[in-house]
Amino acid sequence: MLRIALPNKGRLADEARELFTDAGLEIRAAGPRALTASLGGEFQALFVRAQDIPEFVADGAADAGVTGADLVRESGRALRELTDLTFGRCRLAVAATEESGLLALEDLRSGTRVATVFPRVTAEFFASVGRQVEIVPVSGAAEIAPHIGIADVIVDLVSTGSTLRVNGLREIATVLESSARLIAAPDAREDVARGRALDELVAALRSVLAARDKRYVMANVPRDRLDEVKRVIPGLNGPTIIDIMNGGKFVAVHAVVSAATIYRTIADLKALGAEGILVTRIERLMS
Ligand code: AMP
Repeated sequence: MLRIALPNKGRLADEARELFTDAGLEIRAAGPRALTASLGGEFQALFVRAQDIPEFVADGAADAGVTGADLVRESGRALRELTDLTFGRCRLAVAATEESGLLALEDLRSGTRVATVFPRVTAEFFASVGRQVEIVPVSGAAEIAPHIGIADVIVDLVSTGSTLRVNGLREIATVLESSARLIAAPDAREDVARGRALDELVAALRSVLAARDKRYVMANVPRDRLDEVKRVIPGLNGPTIIDIMNGGKFVAVHAVVSAATIYRTIADLKALGAEGILVTRIERLMS
């Protein structure tokens, strides 16, 4: 039985739950506040704070975990990143008040006070760019710090940037880009059975993520326009072309296409005389 630490609340919790469910690892918990749940045969979920997941995994309390890359870096623990889960995208940024006149790292004088929930990553960052700063650790709401005089700038997570804007702050540098990651301890593969189960988990999660931005298109198209149709729907390895019984001038084509451009694809197929166009979601895509 492999234990997977999942965020119990916050931005990453719902998407992690949805991803595991889509991958066939349905979370069966005894109740909404249960701290553990079955994930089907081989896996068990532990629900903990996203901040604590790097520690849990590094210490062996969980075999793998889902948490933000920012939190993995801040933990300072040696961990193996098994895959980027691509949701929970954000960046850790340096921000200053609009009226400070600070526009770039070069404007920060020696001894600048930096309020942050990420003291380790922040210290590493300023050391790497050769700026001497004083870190002011806070446990939340760093945005207020420059306005009440306890810091000159902040280092905080930014997603859309609206929180910074409403608090009169402007981004002046990016410290790191983050998204949710599946992590394991560095020695997780030493045990063969555990390594295989983790490989299978990674493959299942990746196949769901890969399928999300694709669609399966089916259409009946005029046989004499197949060359043009192939240009519209190249598919993964070229479209599948199927003869229709008594189809005469028409053949059926099936292909995996990008979801982002599906409207264009449909319009192009129609322009080529396609009929009976069907578009479906894909549950998993293994390449
Ligand atoms: P936004 O206003 O969209 O830039 O979001 C910024 C606020 O949301 C900050 O308070 C961040 O701490 C938090 N935030 C944004 N993205 C994430 C994330 N992926 N994980 C955790 N917190 C986040």
